[in-house]
Amino acid sequence: MPRGHQRLRTAFIISLVILFAEVLGGIISGSLALLSDAGHVLTDSFALAMSFIASRLSQRPSDYRATYGYQRIGLLAAVINGSTLLLVSGYIFYEAVRRFTSSFEINPSVMLPVAVFGLFGNALMALVLSKDHHDLNIKSAWLHIVGDLLASVGVVIASVIIILTGWRVADPIAGMVVGILILVGGLRVVRDALWVFLEFVPRGIEPESLVEKIRAVEGVRDVHDVHIWSISHGRVAFSAHVLVKDQLLSDAERIRKAVEEVLEKEGIDHSVIQLEYACSGTNGGIYCQQ
Ligand SMILES: [Zn+2]
Ligand SMILES: [Zn+2]
Repeated sequence: MPRGHQRLRTAFIISLVILFAEVLGGIISGSLALLSDAGHVLTDSFALAMSFIASRLSQRPSDYRATYGYQRIGLLAAVINGSTLLLVSGYIFYEAVRRFTSSFEINPSVMLPVAVFGLFGNALMALVLSKDHHDLNIKSAWLHIVGDLLASVGVVIASVIIILTGWRVADPIAGMVVGILILVGGLRVVRDALWVFLEFVPRGIEPESLVEKIRAVEGVRDVHDVHIWSISHGRVAFSAHVLVKDQLLSDAERIRKAVEEVLEKEGIDHSVIQLEYACSGTNGGIYCQQ
């Protein structure tokens, strides 16, 4: 098992331990902040499991059933995970408002030690995952855990405030802060995954300037029917019709390779280029009109 996988697995086990402690501590102490953090850790455990599975799946080669490979399964999981995050944050906001408007019981002497435990657990996870920065999958998991670390600090501060001043509202306030973190994280996860599913042009690629660069290749008369999409995060695919003059296929090969070089410079490594000499034009649009 590669070391990246091992780290993800270790982080996953730690997150399960935090989850268990915070759910138990949240129920016993009556703290929304702890339960919110537990909700967060729950989706984190799920996300870690998904990164783990995704990083294994992405190594599985394409076959005749899945000609693009299996990487979008990880994306599908991200959509489900992100939607869960949105539901969890909805529940937290509902419960926080309820606590703002009516009285509730809370036991800060249980809340504080569990919150401190959660903080250390999150710190340990950050430490475990911080050693693999170059791997994008693991890097995003790590950035996420730093956010969680701040949330855990917030829950600890809320416990201390309640112990020192008896001001219970600190609990739903801390819960709301965690809820906002969850909401923002969830929206981002869903947006990024849907972006790929909807086959939008990957961020960072500008189709107009790319088409201009292809048009500038020697021997290219025009480009149309351009499609740019992602197979999964960071794997960009491209297809287009390229208009050339009538010539030997062996000569046209040179043009195709030059176009592919342009694409590779933009980070596009999966391209399909259809060379044409008889397209009657595009009428100013982007599609071939015979
Ligand atoms: Zn998290
Ligand atoms: Zn065409």
